[in-house]
Amino acid sequence: MTGPHLNATRRSRELGQLAETTVDVLVVGGGVTGCGTALDAASRGLSVALVEQADLAHGTSRWSSKLVHGGLRYLATGDVGLALESARERGLLMSVVAPHLVRPLPMVIALGPDVDPRAGLLVDVGHRVGDVLRRVARTPRGTLPAPRRISVAETTRLLPAVRRDGLRGGLLNWDGQLEDDARLVVALARTAASYGAKILTRTSAVSASGDGAVLRDELTGQTTAVRAKAVVNATGAWADRLAPETRLRPSKGVHVVLPAAVLGHPAAALTVPVPGERNRYVFALPHPDGLVHVGLTDDPLDGPLPDVPVADEAEIAFLLATLSRGLELPLSRSDVVGSFAGVRPLLAGAEGRTADLSRRHAVVRGDDGLVTVLGGKLTTYRRMAQDVVDTLTDVPCRTASLPLVGAVGPGAPAPARLVRRYGAEASDVAALAAADPRLLEPVAEGVPVLGVELLWGVLAEGALTAEDLLERRTRLSFVDAWHTSARAAAEEALQGGRAPVV
Ligand SMILES: Cc1cc2nc3c(=O)[nH]c(=O)nc-3n(C[C@H](O)[C@H](O)[C@H](O)COP(=O)(O)OP(=O)(O)OC[C@H]3O[C@@H](n4cnc5c(N)ncnc54)[C@H](O)[C@@H]3O)c2cc1C
Repeated sequence: MTGPHLNATRRSRELGQLAETTVDVLVVGGGVTGCGTALDAASRGLSVALVEQADLAHGTSRWSSKLVHGGLRYLATGDVGLALESARERGLLMSVVAPHLVRPLPMVIALGPDVDPRAGLLVDVGHRVGDVLRRVARTPRGTLPAPRRISVAETTRLLPAVRRDGLRGGLLNWDGQLEDDARLVVALARTAASYGAKILTRTSAVSASGDGAVLRDELTGQTTAVRAKAVVNATGAWADRLAPETRLRPSKGVHVVLPAAVLGHPAAALTVPVPGERNRYVFALPHPDGLVHVGLTDDPLDGPLPDVPVADEAEIAFLLATLSRGLELPLSRSDVVGSFAGVRPLLAGAEGRTADLSRRHAVVRGDDGLVTVLGGKLTTYRRMAQDVVDTLTDVPCRTASLPLVGAVGPGAPAPARLVRRYGAEASDVAALAAADPRLLEPVAEGVPVLGVELLWGVLAEGALTAEDLLERRTRLSFVDAWHTSARAAAEEALQGGRAPVV
């Protein structure tokens, strides 16, 4: 299925139409939760508009670890219900909803001197219980292989940089990994648009209640009051700005980006326990384009929330030092080629560390009728959306059997990189180079992104600025040097994309 084209022309047309109608559902927030909600409501036959103050995936949804979890860590805290929900959602994403964007990821805990045999045994048991959840969730063995203990030789083959002295082998487990979290959000938004949803970026809700909102067009500064039969606040960590009664406990998480060569091009994720902590790990996750993402911190964020949080030096040092404990050679600051930080929209609950707070979600209706969806995580966005829309209509939810754009289709031949990122739409993206084959080349020296990707971002994926292209349609901003060297190409694609392209 070729999805609908989101672009500047469509945005201004639909923004104008919005003032003249009453939509069934107005969704505020263009992260995974808001876009998932827009798709759920539109696919049940409701008229929907979604407004996002900046760009699709501008908030937390682009800063995740990109894991589609089976919920193993929730088992460790005894929350079997949440673990099972995660395992079910993981299975749906990998088999029906977005199999083109989620792949199986081998993850290894190296049994080195830092992991005593008792702790190793507990992890092994946890992996096996996780595998039972996989079975209950009906995710086939072919999608996620069985966990197993692996030899020293296999551990060092998968993880060439792992620390050798005292190594007794490893514990191998499988989970889901997203190609790119921002791509999932864009695919959700475009699939929602294919059911008629209006997707309006650079449009913020200044205020909202159960029957409408005041919107500001961030490109012109113009404000408009719009009416809706229901309004959903899906603004994540910023939810209390529209719903002040909301109780959130935001928590900051940081990753650093390393060239895969520094870790010998690992074929699996390496998981290293945080010394002195139970059930907390630092992991090095292999990513395409020769990168490894190392995460993760989890610390309460007090005071006003930044629009875009950044990693500080102490957080970067913590990640490098903890991961180095599991490596043959320690990492240094000069190995880092980029870093990023996000804010988890956690539900306020018991006191204590944010790392221990539940990742459950809640749907809350305010006195003014505004429906706010809170908490949760990327893996369970579909279930969150279902729970929200269930409060608005009796029509049954359809999203468990609904593939996103790119998930199914003829899959005509196209460069492997495009198939990995665009699935069945890869040949449509490649076709943009028909008149200019140079568009199938990298946009700058040493940068993996092809010219057609930038153009497709402008023509079909609603990118309105160079930052939209560099930070969210492609992830060139993961590496500081790529971001700088590709900027001119992004500006050029914006100019080219505004001209009619056949
Ligand atoms: C470091 C980190 C790692 C994580 N890793 C994982 C992981 O591996 N797997 C997993 O399942 N989960 C993970 N999570 C959790 C997951 O990323 C979040 O739960 C999820 O992305 C939240 O999505 P959201 O749509 O609710 O919020 P957001 O993505 O923040 O979206 C909210 C949007 O609302 C917009 N907005 C705010 N105010 C307004 C307004 N007034 N008008 C219009 N728009 C507005 C914002 O610009 C933003 O785009 C991680 C979280 C963090 C922080």
